[in-house]
Amino acid sequence: MNNTNSQLQSDRKNLWHPYTNVASDNPLYLVNSASGVELQLADGRKLIDGMSSWWACIHGYNHPALNQAAKNQLDKMSHVMFGSLTHEPAITLAEKLLAMTSQNGKQDFERVFFADSGSVSVEVAIKMAIQYWFAQGKTQKSQLLTVRNGYHGDTFAAMSVTDPENSMHSMFQGVVSKHLFAEIPAYGDSIEWQDDYIVPIKQQFEQHHEKIAAFIIEPLLQGAGGMKFYHAEYLRQIRKLCDQYDVLLIFDEIATGFGRTGSLFAYQAAKTTPDILCLGKALTGGYMTLAATLANSKVVAGIHADHQGLLMHGPTFMANPLACAVANQSLNLLEQNNWQQQVLSIEQQLLSELTACEKYGSVAQVRVKGAIGVVEMKQAVNFKEIVPKFVEQGVWIRPFGKLIYIMPPYVIKPEQLNKLIQAIKSILSNDVDVIRS
Ligand SMILES: *Cc1c(COP(=O)(O)O)cnc(C)c1O
Repeated sequence: MNNTNSQLQSDRKNLWHPYTNVASDNPLYLVNSASGVELQLADGRKLIDGMSSWWACIHGYNHPALNQAAKNQLDKMSHVMFGSLTHEPAITLAEKLLAMTSQNGKQDFERVFFADSGSVSVEVAIKMAIQYWFAQGKTQKSQLLTVRNGYHGDTFAAMSVTDPENSMHSMFQGVVSKHLFAEIPAYGDSIEWQDDYIVPIKQQFEQHHEKIAAFIIEPLLQGAGGMKFYHAEYLRQIRKLCDQYDVLLIFDEIATGFGRTGSLFAYQAAKTTPDILCLGKALTGGYMTLAATLANSKVVAGIHADHQGLLMHGPTFMANPLACAVANQSLNLLEQNNWQQQVLSIEQQLLSELTACEKYGSVAQVRVKGAIGVVEMKQAVNFKEIVPKFVEQGVWIRPFGKLIYIMPPYVIKPEQLNKLIQAIKSILSNDVDVIRS
């Protein structure tokens, strides 16, 4: 037995993978290295990456500048505790994030909390909101309001605001805390806004505002909950309702942040500023795990007004210097590479090439926004059949549910993106295997 096979066998015997059952016929590939937008498999094949390792790897793999930033920091210290100690990479990164979230010379946020993962940054956001109201003696304000089809992570509080039925978390119903969910009646970013779209959300505010601490939502695009785009006017209306009913507003930009939808942050495109902002995924350019929760001056003042004046959270590896150093370099690269132009070219190519997939009978809709291209099928796709077919064609595309989607690294070249799109078309023209039987 060759080494690759024995390693794969060992993996299947010893490991769990994200939301994947361990059945031996599930696709599994051994990656030896990665460079630019290509994954190098142990069996010698190279795959063009259409997933950016789940939205994160925006500048490509094995990037010389990101490698160098990690090496430089490694030679100083890879980690030090953040309790009563601090370091330059965290200080610089906080300054950068606060500057990037400034508009017209004014900071939208005042303070940054570094968390270890996106889910944890959502936990911290929820904690901030609840602490804010507790500090004012409003202990009845402890519930969250959100919309259906959302996804906010896998830890318990994050799960509790993720769609309760139509999600990976349905088996935990009854165990996770109960929060309030409203409908978004109309999806699609080209729809005409109608005033009654906000009614289901407004009704929840009217009925429950006294016990609601915060409204949490992924701005403009619901990611893992179905890659659904919606009208920015929802966010502006929700902001108004939050102000009117004394509810804090949390935007989860873990997926949309750092340019993916065509604006640096989706909240800026929507012209609506939340009180608390969660960032993650692309923060380190996909190099390592790091997330951040940013709070505005109102939330900071509220939390500090409590006689204790402290935020009750503090992970062991908080503000890991190695991750912060790489994040700083990744943010430099965004600017140096002119991310806006990169994302715009990807968007234009997706619009002109991917949209043609709508002609296939099995396709319900094609959606494009920024560096995101989504083909929604009429039925759930046959994952086990499709993934190996993509690999045969030299691309890495991993569908879920009814969705075949790509969100490539921003550095992808037109001919590489074309190869991803051609691979999708070739799968679609072979309907028989696409749909789960
Ligand atoms: C991925 C994601 C999370 C969870 O982040 P992890 O780093 O996987 O914990 C939360 N919210 C959104 C919108 C995400 O896309």
